[in-house]
Amino acid sequence: MQRLLEGHKKFLSEVFPRRRDQFHLLAESQAPEWLFITCSDSRVLPDLILGTGPGDLFITRNAGNVVPVAANDVDGCTATIEYAVEVLKVKHAILCGHSDCGAMKAALDRKGLEKLPKASRWLQHVEAAFSHRQPLNPGDGPHAELASLIRGNVVAQLLNLKAQPSVARAVMEGRLEVHGWYYEILSGRIERFDEDARRFVPLIA
Ligand code: ZN
Repeated sequence: MQRLLEGHKKFLSEVFPRRRDQFHLLAESQAPEWLFITCSDSRVLPDLILGTGPGDLFITRNAGNVVPVAANDVDGCTATIEYAVEVLKVKHAILCGHSDCGAMKAALDRKGLEKLPKASRWLQHVEAAFSHRQPLNPGDGPHAELASLIRGNVVAQLLNLKAQPSVARAVMEGRLEVHGWYYEILSGRIERFDEDARRFVPLIA
């Protein structure tokens, strides 16, 4: 815990004073432009990789960046999506998977899941990834099979995201765009799913 206490001390003495005006503005309301749905993985740092800061991204995270299907009972992720779209009126919803995803590894090899009844059930949400697996990318090396499944999961969850009633409505009315991304930890690069070409391409060419 000591490291966190030191970190917070530094925030209070160095970071907060520099950004006091911004925090004062944000203390009353927020108007984020982007909803960002990603994995809980500690190596995915949205603000760091996108150059964003306080007030920019409305974020929901869970193991495997899952959007539970619309027919399911309420859950944290879909409730967050609904709020972001209907109340905050975000202009973009970005679903971002990442390389070396533990949830997707578990879905692939099913190892150790007997001790994790809840995670096991949660992973039922990523089953659709198997039918959306993406062509292997030579750059993926020895982890190509996993990377292909992770990209497939982005495609599968993107479909679930678009099926959310609030999202479907906003997209139809032209006030929301939906994006599927794959973040590679090793290179720091992001790929986006090109819906017309049905494949992933670099976000920055
Ligand atoms: Zn993950």
